[in-house]
Amino acid sequence: MVEKDEQTKAIECEALIHLKWMREAMLMAEEALAHSEVPVGCVFVREHGVIARARNRTNELRNASRHAELEAIDCILADKELTPESARYPLEDTVLYVTVEPCIMCASALRQLGIKEVFYGCENDKFGGCGSVLGVNESVRHPVHPSYPATGGYLREEAIMILRRFYVTENTNAPVPKQKSTRVLKTEIPPKIQT
Ligand SMILES: [Zn+2]
Repeated sequence: MVEKDEQTKAIECEALIHLKWMREAMLMAEEALAHSEVPVGCVFVREHGVIARARNRTNELRNASRHAELEAIDCILADKELTPESARYPLEDTVLYVTVEPCIMCASALRQLGIKEVFYGCENDKFGGCGSVLGVNESVRHPVHPSYPATGGYLREEAIMILRRFYVTENTNAPVPKQKSTRVLKTEIPPKIQT
């Protein structure tokens, strides 16, 4: 057996750390599902620890802006220990793990707050702000706010499957509940489109 070189080992070790945090984010997505919310969850990590965790609450609060990322950001900004008043970019030492690619709204908020880096599970084909619809994180130029890297694919299949589990069940909070009794849970996962 060929001995793995140091660089390969380091990459594998880092991937395990990302998966560990993404599992924490997935627990929040599970919580969202249990509360009949679109199952998206996230954790914000700073200095090897979670500083905020949140999930989607759009149905509960009847507010389309209450995405998991913004829920967590509100907690971070409200905490004086986590956010000193002098901080120009309060998230510059913070990494986000979120089960679905941040939407354009959240991707923009994250950039304005100087997020260090984002890791996500599956792509957001309809609203993705980290490349799927618009590259708000880095390809869109901004004169002031620094760009940030965003990498998908961590627990991607789980992230897709939990969304499907939500969409095949009745969403009683939807304005016009759709008839979903005939829907079947699909289990094949489409390949990631390389960009
Ligand atoms: Zn969002």
